[in-house]
Amino acid sequence: MTASTSGTPDGAAIPASRRFSSLPLNPALLDNLQQLGYTEMTPIQAAALPLALSGKDLIAQAQTGSGKTAAFALTLLDRLNPRRFAVQALVLCPTRELADQVTVELRRLARAQDNIKVVTLCGGVPLRMQNASLEHGAHIVVGTPGRIMDHLARGTLDLEALNTLVLDEADRMLDMGFFDDIATVVRQCPMQRQTLLFSATYPEASTRSPASSCASRSRSRCRRSSAARRSSSASTK
Ligand code: AMP
Repeated sequence: MTASTSGTPDGAAIPASRRFSSLPLNPALLDNLQQLGYTEMTPIQAAALPLALSGKDLIAQAQTGSGKTAAFALTLLDRLNPRRFAVQALVLCPTRELADQVTVELRRLARAQDNIKVVTLCGGVPLRMQNASLEHGAHIVVGTPGRIMDHLARGTLDLEALNTLVLDEADRMLDMGFFDDIATVVRQCPMQRQTLLFSATYPEASTRSPASSCASRSRSRCRRSSAARRSSSASTK
């Protein structure tokens, strides 16, 4: 028996396991992916999305350019309730540059949904400007650990309604000395949440990260295609 396939604009067939339509995603997200020209999942998306969308915690190895942002963005957007004006997802990034890139991709992927507010919180911008954005209601916050910690300490950011925590480029955050800051932020997140950790290296980051060590669930590895094994991998905790 052969796997079912569908065509791409250039005529090549896409295996069912690489089609976004094989995922239990909100139809508005699927329509938007089509409009963006995302015809096929990248290896990290095919490895991570089925697990992440089922609610599992995840440790994924993925390089910049692999499509890792959409892997976590689609997961948190699928779960998000736009009518609830509270921070439901937090993405921690090592740098302001990466936080800006993640925010751009999140907004592109969220554009088919109702009025989803994404706020970026990084150093180098006056706190009062960020406070005003937070006061207007944010569904998703993307930022660097130090500035997120500042907002938590001042009471301008509340993570009580958080359901998804993402650590993007976790190995780089640890190399930059953010371990204690991440641990402080993680302590203020609800215990009942999904944690998605993305790292260019594996398994060092997964065993050293405070978010990872806070996860108490048992770990299982997902199976990957040979293409996925070459460039990316994912396991659940
Ligand atoms: P990232 O690794 O998340 O920085 O993504 C790299 C680039 O790939 C970004 O410009 C994304 O918009 C794009 N991208 C992500 N996933 C897909 C996909 N499935 N098909 C086409 N482009 C994608």
